[in-house]
Amino acid sequence: METIGLIVPCYNEEPSINLFYDEVERVFNEMKENNMNYNHEYWFVNDGSSDNTLSLIKNLRSKDKNVHYVSFSRNFGKESAMAAGLDNVGGDYVAVMDVDLQDPPALLPKMIKYIKEDGYDVVGCVQKTRKQNPVRAFLSSSFYKVINKMSDVEIKQNVRDYRLMTRQYVDNVLKLCEYNRFTKGIFSWVGFNTKYIEYDGVERAAGESHWSLYQLLEYSLEGIVDFSDVPLKVATWVGGFSFFISIIGLIFVVLRAIFFGGAVSGWPSLVSIILFINGVQLFCLGIAGNYIGKIYLETKNRPKYIVKEKE
Ligand code: UDP
Ligand code: MG
Repeated sequence: METIGLIVPCYNEEPSINLFYDEVERVFNEMKENNMNYNHEYWFVNDGSSDNTLSLIKNLRSKDKNVHYVSFSRNFGKESAMAAGLDNVGGDYVAVMDVDLQDPPALLPKMIKYIKEDGYDVVGCVQKTRKQNPVRAFLSSSFYKVINKMSDVEIKQNVRDYRLMTRQYVDNVLKLCEYNRFTKGIFSWVGFNTKYIEYDGVERAAGESHWSLYQLLEYSLEGIVDFSDVPLKVATWVGGFSFFISIIGLIFVVLRAIFFGGAVSGWPSLVSIILFINGVQLFCLGIAGNYIGKIYLETKNRPKYIVKEKE
């Protein structure tokens, strides 16, 4: 019988763990009744939770030997948690899913069908309706537009990390061992035939989202810097353009001095121009700095996460 490995990042998810486990068990039992027989194994990744998440997972492990876990030494973030899951998970198919049931396990049978019957390698999930405040909705749709324009990876709007993958696909994802991880981009970069299915967004089963607006902005920046060097080119063009304009300005000033003479007037405009050019320079320096920062972290070659316990 084939096995489906489930990667489940958990950070302070005490209220959700058991709800999640029960729901997944229900889905797999239902699949059995419909003659879809698969083994499944869980890989919970405890991302440095400060509540009882780990003991709840251990509790499940004592009842069910298909439950495995990796527990980090501190909070490393969901991207690292997913990386740890991918490093450890077994199975012929692998799914990444949130523990808060916002990635409904009930979609799994449909996803498997696309892989088994239609020959897809990956099935990703796209949230159709999503309750979001207008500012977030606007920022998020702008992010997808920008990243799809700038980078050579195509990321579908509102795509979740929730996806079912074949072993071959997972093995290829594992070849991308970068430290700065933007998993949505990595998944897309690896390629293969991907089917996207849409579903209506669901509220969290319990607890609260861990994302602040600032973290989302950082995450977006990570996505752009990791998968595109267009901002560097923009910096070059902005620099080139202001250089060109300044040459014209210079010629104008020199000619005026030769033909009309007189003192140069208008220092307020001069100051404004200097400030403007300084702003442009700092902006471009900031862009370059972002890339240098990434290179710095990448060359240190640190591990993506530290495991404290694993079973
Ligand atoms: N998560 C994690 N580490 C973190 C933050 C979140 O492993 O530092 C997990 C979290 O437990 C959940 C998933 O990532 O299973 C998605 O987090 P959340 O629900 O907060 O994000 P949202 O659904 O709001 O995008
Ligand atoms: Mg969630």
